Amino acid sequence: MTPKITAGCYFHIPFCARKCAYCHFLSFPFDEKTEERYANAVLMELRLFAARLQSMPPVDSIYFGGGTPGLIPAEHIAGILDECRRIFPVAAGCEITLETNPGTVSPEKAAAYRAAGINRVSVGAQSFSDAELRAVGRIHSAAEIADSLAALSGAGFDNISLDLMLGLPEQTAESWRATLGAAVNFPIRHISVYMLELHKFDEFVEFLEFDERPPLLARAAEGKPSLPGEDMVADMYAETIDFLGSRGLEQYEISNFARPGSASRHNLKYWRRTPVYGFGLGSHSFDGHFRYANTSEMEDYCRRIESGISPVVRRSEVTEKQALEETFFLGLRLTEGVDLRGSAAAGFLSERKNAQSAQSAMNEFRAQGLIDMDESRLRLTVKGMLLSNEILEYFV
Ligand code: SF4
Repeated sequence: MTPKITAGCYFHIPFCARKCAYCHFLSFPFDEKTEERYANAVLMELRLFAARLQSMPPVDSIYFGGGTPGLIPAEHIAGILDECRRIFPVAAGCEITLETNPGTVSPEKAAAYRAAGINRVSVGAQSFSDAELRAVGRIHSAAEIADSLAALSGAGFDNISLDLMLGLPEQTAESWRATLGAAVNFPIRHISVYMLELHKFDEFVEFLEFDERPPLLARAAEGKPSLPGEDMVADMYAETIDFLGSRGLEQYEISNFARPGSASRHNLKYWRRTPVYGFGLGSHSFDGHFRYANTSEMEDYCRRIESGISPVVRRSEVTEKQALEETFFLGLRLTEGVDLRGSAAAGFLSERKNAQSAQSAMNEFRAQGLIDMDESRLRLTVKGMLLSNEILEYFV
């Protein structure tokens, strides 16, 4: 039986209390006037989209990402959700996630999210060490993470995810263990562990046209602050997989861990190439055949929408070859790996300019303990996940 196609909706809310030192996301410090205009523009974008819409699969995930969506008035989130329900076939039991940060969640706000229909919250905790949080310019303390989680649980949220960061300045193996230990003591169902990636800053800085380099990068260039070494981060990553697994949070993707049945439905759509429609500044969409990108310039975004013009500035058809590549490299991010008997993987490998050299690279990766392969599946090992960019780059 062919699996039923469902879709996701993503809303980008690009406001934060303050820019963190390492941030490469499309986000700006909150300002009430811009936010008000922006929230209206997102509603108008939904209506513009609806006017052109011919058909849409059932929507079973809605995601508010950012930025810090939890920073904007809860009624703006509720308004967008109401419009979604009016326009789209929102499925019963739709996963509706809101990203937020400690220091921005009050019991009143948590209750308002719940009333609006949010049923999953992803909290950017990053670390339970105040020294590490300060080192990267986070606005919150470890105590505020606990307060936010208490407010969310008090409002009835039982599907909470935490984001943590590995490789932070001042981080040690002990402080990381303490962070993991503190995280699993809360009633959470999901953890994402992201690595601090300083080497990517230059390209992001260029892309975002900052006047100055983010402070952490500038400090790193001066030889400060002290970052844990690559080997230590690799050991901590391997230990994380074991530790979280022993606490019932199984790894299902390079950076993601969940209790049974609690993998992020929304993020799985990206890795499984299911349609996701993005709204808001700089958001991306995939309808199964085409990829679209919205402008990432705030004035341009608002003006276009206010004039009834689509904010889409890039549209490209995904060729059959690209689809095979995407299926292959996105599938490899998942611990379930890629089905080698499936037509996508077989097609991908025979598509390579030199299928023989792809095969010998796979044998080499296997000899180095980076991939696991049998007749039916190809997966990255833990060591391979740490070098995933290099491995995936080879194939694509
Ligand atoms: S909270 Fe997240 S999106 Fe906002 S500045 Fe910090 S890292 Fe960037």
